[in-house]
Amino acid sequence: MKIHAMAALSRGADLTPWIMECSPLGPFDCLVKVESCGLCYSDVHMIDNDWRSSRYPLVPGHEVIGAIADCGPQVTRFKPGDRVGIGWQQSACLACRDCLRGNENLCSQSGALIADGYGGFADHLVIDSRFCFSLPRELDMERAGPLLCGGITVYAALRYAGMTSGQNIGVIGLGGLGHLAIQFAARLGNRVTSFTTSGSKEADALSLGAAEVVLMKEGRPTTRPSEPLDLIIVTVPYSFAWDKLLGLLATDGTLTFAATPAENVSINVDRLLSHRRRIMASPTAGRAMIEETLSLAARHRILPVIQPFPLNQVNEAIRQLRANRIRYRAVIRL
Ligand SMILES: [Zn+2]
Ligand SMILES: [Zn+2]
Repeated sequence: MKIHAMAALSRGADLTPWIMECSPLGPFDCLVKVESCGLCYSDVHMIDNDWRSSRYPLVPGHEVIGAIADCGPQVTRFKPGDRVGIGWQQSACLACRDCLRGNENLCSQSGALIADGYGGFADHLVIDSRFCFSLPRELDMERAGPLLCGGITVYAALRYAGMTSGQNIGVIGLGGLGHLAIQFAARLGNRVTSFTTSGSKEADALSLGAAEVVLMKEGRPTTRPSEPLDLIIVTVPYSFAWDKLLGLLATDGTLTFAATPAENVSINVDRLLSHRRRIMASPTAGRAMIEETLSLAARHRILPVIQPFPLNQVNEAIRQLRANRIRYRAVIRL
């Protein structure tokens, strides 16, 4: 069987049609017929080889929604026709200390779908069923794709930073990640302050569940939120006046990074010490946290706001993402 994909054949190239032979299914593998796939900025980083781990042809796409088409002999969790989601990770050793504690995403042997395999901008893909997730029936399949990377990334970062409910939570940036962070934090009963550089996004922030919006100018908040924040999540890769943001945190407050700023972060430790504050960062999530993210999203009707594109317009979607014009996540429909 042949798989028809859109691939970058070299660094930074537009995606072009590329046909590959489907590899035989291993014991735990599934063949998935792709229905849609979100476009994440990590796909662009991989196309551009920004992380020096890309190999070409490179098939991007790691926010996959699809249906099981075939299963290897050891697969018991799925059967043909089941709807599934696939995210960033495609493999881990499943035996190390991190894997055994549900931190498969931190396993030193973890493999990424678009670095070590082939992603979702294709009519089919082969994936280890142990990194394939059942989708709750209540989820809107047309829009759910971006939950598989963007949604999981922000939900896990909030949880590991101590999000419960009844807290004041600041979300820095209103884009693919930020618009999901606002929804998760607000639907779980927190008061959300959205920080954005774009006044035109204020109404969107409020309709997604934010209680207030603070405009950022030259990396600084233009006003103080009405209450100290228990937690601030950074969802965009820009540099800000970090000491100013730390000053908005309550005692024992946490600043967590779900995106890497372009420049190294420099802070005055007294900003932490004076109120016992913390700084941390969190990448994607292990399988238990992914299951939790999907079931919460279904239960609380948390859904990405998407701009759909047909597969033959994937390069246009990438151009718009590079130009920061997508509101709030591009989804490629197969
Ligand atoms: Zn991603
Ligand atoms: Zn491991």
